[in-house]
Amino acid sequence: MGKTTGFMKFDRKIEAYEPVEERIKNYKEFTVPLKESELKNQGARCMDCGIPFCHSGCPLGNLIPDFNDAVYQGKWEKATKILHSTNNFPEFTGRLCPAPCEEACVLGINEDPVSIENIEKNIVETAFKNGWIKPEPPIKRTGKKVVVVGSGPAGLAAAQQLNRAGHTVTLLERDEKIGGLLRYGIPDFKMEKNVIDRRLEVMGKEGIIFKTGVHVGVHIKADELQKEYDAIVLCGGATVRRNLPIPGSDLKGVVQAMDFLPQNNRKVDGIPYEGEELSAKGKRVIVIGGGDTGSDCIGTSIRHGAVSVTNFEIMPKSTTQRPEGQPWPFWPMRLRTSSSHKEGAERVFSISTKKFVGDEKGNLKGLVTAEVYWEKKPGQRPVLKEVKGSEKEWECNLALLALGFTGSETTIADQLGLQMDARTNINASIKDYKTNIPGVFVAGDQRRGQSLIVWAISEGREAAYHVDSFLMGKSNLPLKGDGDLPRV
Ligand SMILES: Cc1cc2nc3c(=O)[nH]c(=O)nc-3n(C[C@H](O)[C@H](O)[C@H](O)COP(=O)(O)OP(=O)(O)OC[C@H]3O[C@@H](n4cnc5c(N)ncnc54)[C@H](O)[C@@H]3O)c2cc1C
Repeated sequence: MGKTTGFMKFDRKIEAYEPVEERIKNYKEFTVPLKESELKNQGARCMDCGIPFCHSGCPLGNLIPDFNDAVYQGKWEKATKILHSTNNFPEFTGRLCPAPCEEACVLGINEDPVSIENIEKNIVETAFKNGWIKPEPPIKRTGKKVVVVGSGPAGLAAAQQLNRAGHTVTLLERDEKIGGLLRYGIPDFKMEKNVIDRRLEVMGKEGIIFKTGVHVGVHIKADELQKEYDAIVLCGGATVRRNLPIPGSDLKGVVQAMDFLPQNNRKVDGIPYEGEELSAKGKRVIVIGGGDTGSDCIGTSIRHGAVSVTNFEIMPKSTTQRPEGQPWPFWPMRLRTSSSHKEGAERVFSISTKKFVGDEKGNLKGLVTAEVYWEKKPGQRPVLKEVKGSEKEWECNLALLALGFTGSETTIADQLGLQMDARTNINASIKDYKTNIPGVFVAGDQRRGQSLIVWAISEGREAAYHVDSFLMGKSNLPLKGDGDLPRV
């Protein structure tokens, strides 16, 4: 370890953002990279703790103090190898992860945590710039054929790991391009899509067969895949959106976030889209739902040229500090303010939408809300209650529903006879990712419900280990916590 007292000398520093008035003119990423000397100082802030809680905070078990130290020493290629030993796609997590590792950083107990995510992004960007990310095709093929259904981060991670184990991997995706929510959910201003494309180029050279426009269950029955492949890995995500069944929800102008965002990403990419154009230009927009999806709707609406953007959240406003009962090193449910929130959205908490109001032509013109609170009684689940007399009417021409997802689609499960769990995801244990049908595995949001990219990558990697073990009787693929540092 180089600079063990770096945390006493240097303050936390992360990339700055371009000014709001500039960045909202386009859909490009808007971060301003740190200088190499600044990044080294940030690496030096890591204390190389005896028990690195950041490892367990990270669903991938990233070897964080090791790559921090390599960065501090300017050994970027070594840092690249360490980082890739646990994470197939640090360019995704380095941009998009909410960084549970930083919440678990020991320095974070009484100081600002190490800027782990930003260091991660800079390691992988340095690696791409220097041509260190090279295809790693297997030395020999096993003769086994695996099909992965769904090309989000879980499917991509599973495919890369299984290909490295020597199996012939075909990845099927129903959309016109590979990437899942990375491509069609997350806006370009959070991650430009060439970041996915350059990784796909490497994976293609490794020998993974990508097939797009293939809707499994529709174009090809899932049970036909069983005849053609030795194993199936389902990574179809948790795509069933939650609705808001209140009066007026069929008005023109009440739109699902996951219709609005994918259409915009297609527009930015020049891909034709189906249906009417969904635009926020000149509109009073209300985004219902305060999560990542809601935040992405805000940034997109502002770039469209909305007159105003308001964000409703049914939960009360949290504190920016750790709430009581959520101590370090756990992930705290604290108030998070995204770059999109800062672009000009009004945030309203403890609010519930009761009805949408339309004009005589069936266009949305407003909505009615009530203030709410959660009544807690000992031994019972909290119950949502309305504050009497708090009804309010809001002017609104576009309401974007960002209410989360209720689970996985069931077509493939029905065709294969798979058991679902109580939350309508495909049932499989995190111990081995096996469904009730031998040879069929499931990973990512389709198994755990709507979650995070870092979890999807982790599940894809772990599932690959179990698929490989199923096919070969044992596996040399790494499992989380192996801690097997690459020989560099
Ligand atoms: C708008 C939005 C923003 C988000 N922002 C963040 C963020 O900033 N950070 C973060 O960590 N997480 C974020 N998330 C969550 C994250 O994107 C997901 O947890 C992650 O993408 C899940 O990965 P996955 O591979 O399991 O599924 P997905 O990414 O959902 O990919 C599933 C893929 O399977 C395909 N598919 C499904 N069924 C079939 C079929 N029958 N045949 C063929 N293909 C099929 C789908 O078309 C899709 O491409 C966000 C989610 C949303 C909706």
